[in-house]
Amino acid sequence: MAEAPVPKPWISAIHAYVPGKSAGKDGRPLIKLSANENPLGTSPKALAARADALAPDRYPDPDSKALRTALGKLHGIDPARIVCGTGSDELLHLAAQGYAGPGDEVIYVRYGFSVYDIAARRCGAEPIIAPDSDYGSDVDAILPLVSQKTRVVFIANPNNPTGSFLPKGEIVRLHAALPPNVLLVLDQAYGEYVAAEDDDGAMALAAAHDNVLVTRTFSKIYGLAGERIGWGTGAAGIIDTLNRIRGPFNVSSNGQAMALAALADQDFVEHSRRHNAAERARFIDALKAMGNHGLRLLPSQANFVLVLFEGKLTAEAAFDGLAERGYITRWLPNQGLPHGLRITIGTAEQMDDIAKGLREMAGAAK
Ligand code: PMP
Repeated sequence: MAEAPVPKPWISAIHAYVPGKSAGKDGRPLIKLSANENPLGTSPKALAARADALAPDRYPDPDSKALRTALGKLHGIDPARIVCGTGSDELLHLAAQGYAGPGDEVIYVRYGFSVYDIAARRCGAEPIIAPDSDYGSDVDAILPLVSQKTRVVFIANPNNPTGSFLPKGEIVRLHAALPPNVLLVLDQAYGEYVAAEDDDGAMALAAAHDNVLVTRTFSKIYGLAGERIGWGTGAAGIIDTLNRIRGPFNVSSNGQAMALAALADQDFVEHSRRHNAAERARFIDALKAMGNHGLRLLPSQANFVLVLFEGKLTAEAAFDGLAERGYITRWLPNQGLPHGLRITIGTAEQMDDIAKGLREMAGAAK
């Protein structure tokens, strides 16, 4: 007889999520550009709403009704087709758990968001990893992996940690080739950073088909990562499934009130989007202007860039060097990218400083 409770083997096989760090090796707090948070903070209107939130001794609205109504209005979706979650993370887990289990397969891409692996394993399903195409998601690599056992396909668009983006034609092609019993989860955690004209069509697919779930979050452009609020939309059957298994009071009173106020402040969202687009372009130009130092920047539609170190300067040395200069970025050996450093787009001053640091280090490593 076992002497202690024995976790299920598929749970023991999980590597716990590694969050972006906020301090250096010596514990010194650093400027955090490791978790793709909004460098402009939170809308002042959302901060003000916190004070007005319901008393903490009362449970929150279990259905996040006011928030779903406001989301529905903004995005033109029936609120009955929206479910809120404790961050979009909760919804990703629920999607896997609702539709896959032991004996089933869940597909996601190599260099994809690490929570998909945990979500697949947590419900006992087998993760199936599709090869990338120069670090980006590749529909032609995903489709041959679809089998009778496939239950869920996860795609982040833009993708984390690569920043890569599949245009609408590719997303539609992927969906059209999937059997109707496979749930396609289109994770748009960075969706608000994509220019309107580049819309990937995910919302339209979720509105029209029974097998598409789109997830979004208040953690990124809305600057509410600490409050843990996400949402998803899809067919009535999918929303019903997720509602059956989600935490009954999964979004706090503060979270609901702040998200509602943040949603009403679209000026802040637009300002954040413009800031990100401008600083991302400036940072990419600054690194290009360095000439060939073996640093390769992957094109990004998100609020971060993945820098690949293909020359003398290693990603690890750059990570340490930037930490010495006061910045914590995301080095990715645990995600198969020991040569990759993911850098969240910060303020203009921070990005100038980082470009300068990289230039100095790459020059010295020659
Ligand atoms: N999807 C992707 C692609 C992400 O990068 C993240 C955050 N790192 C999430 C989902 C989850 O975010 P949250 O739970 O804060 O909504």
